[in-house]
Amino acid sequence: MKVRLVFIVYFLFLNFSFGSDSTNELKYLEELVSISSGTQDVEGVSSVQKNVASQLQNLGFEILENKSDVDTVKSTQTVAIKKGKNAKFITFVTHADTVFEKLNPFKWSDDKKRLVGSGVGDNKGGLVVTLYTIKNLLENPKFEYSIRVIISPNEETGSMGFRKQLKSYGDDSALILGMEPALEDGSIVEARKGVRWYHIKIAGREAHAGTAPENGVSACHELSKKIVKILDLNEYSKGNTINVGHVDGGKDKFNIVCGSAE
Ligand SMILES: [Zn+2]
Repeated sequence: MKVRLVFIVYFLFLNFSFGSDSTNELKYLEELVSISSGTQDVEGVSSVQKNVASQLQNLGFEILENKSDVDTVKSTQTVAIKKGKNAKFITFVTHADTVFEKLNPFKWSDDKKRLVGSGVGDNKGGLVVTLYTIKNLLENPKFEYSIRVIISPNEETGSMGFRKQLKSYGDDSALILGMEPALEDGSIVEARKGVRWYHIKIAGREAHAGTAPENGVSACHELSKKIVKILDLNEYSKGNTINVGHVDGGKDKFNIVCGSAE
């Protein structure tokens, strides 16, 4: 079966609002937003995951924790599962981490109907919408699908170490929903770019740039050449884009052939 991925583009700072009677949802959103959970904050991320997982547990979900394939990623991926009559899953993909490491101040709007601040929309709002959507689904006697909720710990940095698992959820899902905020005008996003990040390190050989440059091999020069080639891979018409985000190399001496660059 063809699985349709629905991703909803996110904004870092987003007004978030529910319908008219949404006191519980907003209270819960406030509770989640109050927990600082930048991607590197393993404890904070875990605390958000546990909070949502316990809510799902109350709805009869079984909770699993998947370890990352990458040693440096200490956070786990929380997966909540509830089997239905239909073995196929509706899979909700969410995440507990936020872009900003430190808790950014959030505030209520004047009419007290909205919370405004970082992480409110992306993706604490997504978590709340997921939870309350599931509550509604479970109240519907006609709903027979199994449900799976993924609470990723590091979506903002590319879900490192969880690629295999994320891919496998397509095998038994009738539908996978990325529970991210909509576009500014409210429209749903049906596709989203993937991302790969590379860290390139170049080792050269230092030498005196004035008296014996021929003894050196410049890592900086080599990196510059590579960057030019890498940028040639941009395919704007296809939406494949490349960004060299940070460059570092050499020492603070202009007369030394650059020994290393990254
Ligand atoms: Zn997000």
